[in-house]
Amino acid sequence: MKRKEFIQMASVLPLAFGLTSLHKWYSDVPTAEESPLMPVLFIGHGSPMNGIEDNPISKSWKNLGETIPQPGMVLVVSAHWLTKGSHVTAMEKPRTIYDFGGFPDELYQVKYPAPGSPKMADEVKNAITTTPVGLDHEWGLDHGTWTIVRHMYPNADIPVLQLSIDYGRDATYHFRLAAELGALRKRGVLIIGSGNAVHNLSKIAFGSKPDFGYDWAIQANEEMKSFILDGNYKEMLTYQNKGSHWQLAIPSPDHYYPLMYTLGLTKPGEKVEVFNDTPTLGSIAMTSYKFG
Ligand code: ZN
Repeated sequence: MKRKEFIQMASVLPLAFGLTSLHKWYSDVPTAEESPLMPVLFIGHGSPMNGIEDNPISKSWKNLGETIPQPGMVLVVSAHWLTKGSHVTAMEKPRTIYDFGGFPDELYQVKYPAPGSPKMADEVKNAITTTPVGLDHEWGLDHGTWTIVRHMYPNADIPVLQLSIDYGRDATYHFRLAAELGALRKRGVLIIGSGNAVHNLSKIAFGSKPDFGYDWAIQANEEMKSFILDGNYKEMLTYQNKGSHWQLAIPSPDHYYPLMYTLGLTKPGEKVEVFNDTPTLGSIAMTSYKFG
């Protein structure tokens, strides 16, 4: 790569409501009548070029779309939507956002016309009771979302919503906020944290081999992986006291916080799979996780 390219669902509808009611409730989307517990993902998105390239990373995303249960809705917490307070996209037709510069024209021609869902935005808002969630009509799908989801669901026929990151808050806040969305997993909603656990753009090794990683990046990433596989999330929440290699790996938490959402949505003892476990460009880890 060259430099240039560079209710509780409102206490979730009381349990007295059966699956038939749930199906009716989501009747505007192609949700299976009996939704299995959806997996929850953290995806290292890396370069926006993954959005149009056919490479091992984008192939893995395509494979995910083909192998996990078909969701009725996708909700993405992207590293690229940082706000004051939390907001959920609530428009009927979210636009494709080109929030990057210096890439080939082809990347700016991509449109991912997945529908939104004002109704489901309401439900996301209502699921979070500890803080008000704004309904957003301006944002859309940024590249933290569409570069991935277009490979997973190329027909763009599943509603895709984004939840913003309240950037003034710490890791523990985001971890706890995510837990409030846990009930959505039983309702056909695929929730994706999209970032990169190790992400330091100021240290990018331009012109390096595709899978090159600095020692500090690899070491921090390996330690993160151990903590996650051991279910030791407390160590992930206290990322700021892990030494200089972690500080280099997470110079700012924008690409790390989406992982806090994924972890906050998991259940103890859930199966976890690691994929795309490779560094790239020296200072980025593509390492991704699938829970459930
Ligand atoms: Zn990014």
